[in-house]
Amino acid sequence: MADVRTSILRAAQAADRLHKEFDTKTYTDGDEGRVNVFDMMAKRDLPVMFRPLDKLLGAYLKEGSPGVIITTQRQLPVQRFTAAHELGHAVLDHTPSLDPEDILMRSPFGARAAGGYDMQEIQANAFASQLLLPTWLLAKHVRRQGWTPENLTEPDTVYQLSLRLGASYSATCHALLSSRVIKKPAYDKLGDETPRDIKKRLLDPYKPENYRGDVWLITERDDGLLLEGSRSDLVVINVLEHSGSGYLWRIEDLAEVGLAVVSDGRTDPHDKEAIGGMVFRNVVAKSEKGAIGHVNLREVRPWMAADPLHSLNLEVDFTGPVREGLLQAQREALLGVA
Ligand SMILES: [Zn+2]
Repeated sequence: MADVRTSILRAAQAADRLHKEFDTKTYTDGDEGRVNVFDMMAKRDLPVMFRPLDKLLGAYLKEGSPGVIITTQRQLPVQRFTAAHELGHAVLDHTPSLDPEDILMRSPFGARAAGGYDMQEIQANAFASQLLLPTWLLAKHVRRQGWTPENLTEPDTVYQLSLRLGASYSATCHALLSSRVIKKPAYDKLGDETPRDIKKRLLDPYKPENYRGDVWLITERDDGLLLEGSRSDLVVINVLEHSGSGYLWRIEDLAEVGLAVVSDGRTDPHDKEAIGGMVFRNVVAKSEKGAIGHVNLREVRPWMAADPLHSLNLEVDFTGPVREGLLQAQREALLGVA
């Protein structure tokens, strides 16, 4: 058992060295809430090919020089975790590895994981978790959002955290448990909920055609944030509106980046008069063919040209999952574009 612990520790330390090398603590201080694993692979000259794969999420190959294959058939968070796992194999100088779902979705922690599994796989998962979901990055999001420890036992909050980290819901639950932010009973309760239940609740009463896309709940706390997701994602914007003093949020700008408003409503938080004529504006918009661009929403008096009372800036990239072919940065380098 001591061997397993030492191996996991070594893998986590290798991930921490990459955090230093790529200065992730600095760039995630700004508006990039997730670790850019694809960028790391490109800068390390590790070829990454995206392909439809049968039964595998990814593979680490080593014929002469190392390379990585990642499936195109899963959502972006799974592609990212797979990429981090394969990068782990490369960084830790492992032997080639074909990785089906059951290897990647397994918790890298706890005694159960040690029961006869390949040590390389345990290490690659521990590396991926430490690379994409380090405790300090979880803490940054929790601070930015003003979440309490109690909030982190709630599925809806943990799901929103996972989107900002670019990780799956289950990987985020694992990370919260392993960093001892939550205890086992809370972890088990989080596991009782599926992302589908959470999305349904978030969108209610709006009903999409299916629940494949992720649902981002956006408030003014997210001002400046990069939203990196998939072509089928939806955005729920929930902002306070000072309608009593004539202010309205202009949402027309959403269309410019390819976000189509499918529902627009207002709810009184309590008694409308009691808080001085403020209401919550609740807008649901869906990505159409991969929304991308800068969104600047402003709370203005429609008939006046004055500065907005509040504004909300978002950098949207809903072009995921990554499609078939070489990693974009590597394709550009090959073509001599970059
Ligand atoms: Zn593996």
